[in-house]
Amino acid sequence: MPSRSFYRSSRVVFAAFLIVALTTICSAQDSAGPQPAPLPAPVAGPVDKPYPGTFALKVDLTNVNQRVLNVRETIPVNSGSITLLYPQWLPGTHSPSNPVGAMAGLVVTANGRRIPWVRDRVNMWAFHIDVPQGASALELNFQYLAPVKPRQGRISNKFADLTWNSVLLYPAGYFARRIQFSPELRLPEGWKFATSLDVKSQNGNVVQFKDVPLNTLIDSPLYAGINYKRVDLSTGPDAPVYLDVFADQTEQLDITSEEFEYHKNLVIQAEKLFSSRHYDRYDFLFSLSDSVGGKGLEHHQSSEDGTRANYFTDWLAGVAGRALLAHEYVHSWNGKFRRPADLWTTNFNVPMQNDLLWVYEGLTDYYGNVLTARSGLRTLEQTRDVFAGIAANFEASPGRTWRPLDDTTNQPIISAHGARPEEWASWQRGYDYYPESDLVWLDADTKIRELSNGQKSLDDFARLFFGIDNKSYVTVTYTFDDLVKILNAVQPFDWASFFRIRVYQVEAQVPEDGFTRSGYRLVYNDTESEWMKHMDRSRGISFATSLGFAVKAGGGVAQDDDDDTSDGSITGVWWNSPAFKAGMTPDMQLKAVNDQSFSLATLREAILAAEKSNAPVKLLLKRGKEYITVSLDCHGGLRYPHLERVESTPDRLDEILAPIK
Ligand SMILES: [Zn+2]
Repeated sequence: MPSRSFYRSSRVVFAAFLIVALTTICSAQDSAGPQPAPLPAPVAGPVDKPYPGTFALKVDLTNVNQRVLNVRETIPVNSGSITLLYPQWLPGTHSPSNPVGAMAGLVVTANGRRIPWVRDRVNMWAFHIDVPQGASALELNFQYLAPVKPRQGRISNKFADLTWNSVLLYPAGYFARRIQFSPELRLPEGWKFATSLDVKSQNGNVVQFKDVPLNTLIDSPLYAGINYKRVDLSTGPDAPVYLDVFADQTEQLDITSEEFEYHKNLVIQAEKLFSSRHYDRYDFLFSLSDSVGGKGLEHHQSSEDGTRANYFTDWLAGVAGRALLAHEYVHSWNGKFRRPADLWTTNFNVPMQNDLLWVYEGLTDYYGNVLTARSGLRTLEQTRDVFAGIAANFEASPGRTWRPLDDTTNQPIISAHGARPEEWASWQRGYDYYPESDLVWLDADTKIRELSNGQKSLDDFARLFFGIDNKSYVTVTYTFDDLVKILNAVQPFDWASFFRIRVYQVEAQVPEDGFTRSGYRLVYNDTESEWMKHMDRSRGISFATSLGFAVKAGGGVAQDDDDDTSDGSITGVWWNSPAFKAGMTPDMQLKAVNDQSFSLATLREAILAAEKSNAPVKLLLKRGKEYITVSLDCHGGLRYPHLERVESTPDRLDEILAPIK
């Protein structure tokens, strides 16, 4: 009987034979098989040199009825080959998401003759053209096809948000700031407009703007519409700031004197916080509409803002989203003037890297919420509720157990800026670098205040970091080390470790030290705050902290596309929640609660009844044509999150939220 070692050694010999045989076969196949396709020539990278001549860009906005924008662009050229780019990576979206498929009807001519274009086989945003001998200009005609369906796009019969990145091509091989454009716009009759671009001349509904470099043009979108009001928020003649409001109806433009004061305070408080400004004039481009979608996109000297039509007319309804203007305004300092080095690119087709978005977006979100409170746009109590809600959502969302916060900064690229939505958001935790960073920066702010015995705060960092080069809007980039260095100058501490633990490591613990150090604790009870009762319920009311799902409950001020079936639609199921464990999915519709037809009231009553008994909450759900009954064991009540004061500890949160004198 052969020994075991014989078997072992014979197996080794056989394995070695097999490897040699397979290698021989594979190499034979390789030499006889197809050869890999040669890599295409790369599109030329940008160089810091001027593009000779000026691009004439004529955009016709008159066909808003069909959401079709007609474009004529004249490009100075020499004969030879040229590659034209449709902008792909847009600042503020942090992703390669500008939809090139919406650009159609491209016809190129030179000296009146049509010439062919070829799209790059690898880069779908690049178009190769051979310019014929003797041609000194190319004329391009094409259309930008904006989304037709209401609320999917930003153009209606009464309003248009014109983003120049949708309506132009530009040459590869040059820094964007070295390509000059001369933009012209034809508006629908009777429409007014607002933009941070300077007007050269206006003839009826045709507006000619002063020449601008491409980077400024793309950073200067334009709002136009029928119903328009300009509100002056300037704090002095040398720093004009305007709220340019466009609305579906004229009465939605009405702003009360109190509301005006809150918005003006926002400008005052931001200027005090940063002790600087980086714009000649700032325009909040602001659409109030239930027919086009909302928006928040930062620019250096303006922002594209959009929310519901009742912004001024039902003030309490908008508390949840009230930080929109403050957030975008803070971006003029954090994101536009100062920008993470990996996010500063030389043209709009160079990939960006999002690593420091927890500063670019996260610190902006924190100061957006803080300035919203300092200006009176939200009360102190509302602000505390907002912070409590952020932490409570993380306590109900286990995504933090697998994914470091920093990895979520890749989400705009992964999801193509939200085009691929997350069905299990509490587990995938896509955009957590916004709200979680609020908690991290509150943690840092209170740490500075504690270590310095109240002598220093994060405001000192904000002044040192963003308050440089007053009146300049030439971007100054920063790195992680720059951030740590300035924080150390304000208050010596191991800030590098502080952020590495909270941002770059998996940390299951929700970062709530900022609450503790502020003199508050997170509590849950059955009391719903007054402002929450005014929220738009058609978009989904969250029961994340109790049953573990969110449900559309109708009755909102605006209706989504699918609204006739929206009542009871489950819009989210929290991972590992009672709803999750019962097998619920975000495509279900809630039909009945404890054998009663679904309404928000019956659902709340059922949760309160279960708090006082051992009986589960029984739900009847519909999924496609199937009806399903589930029973959720959940006896903790409604569990609305609030911050509760811990007496005899310093109230640092109220200090943070108090206006700067
Ligand atoms: Zn932002």
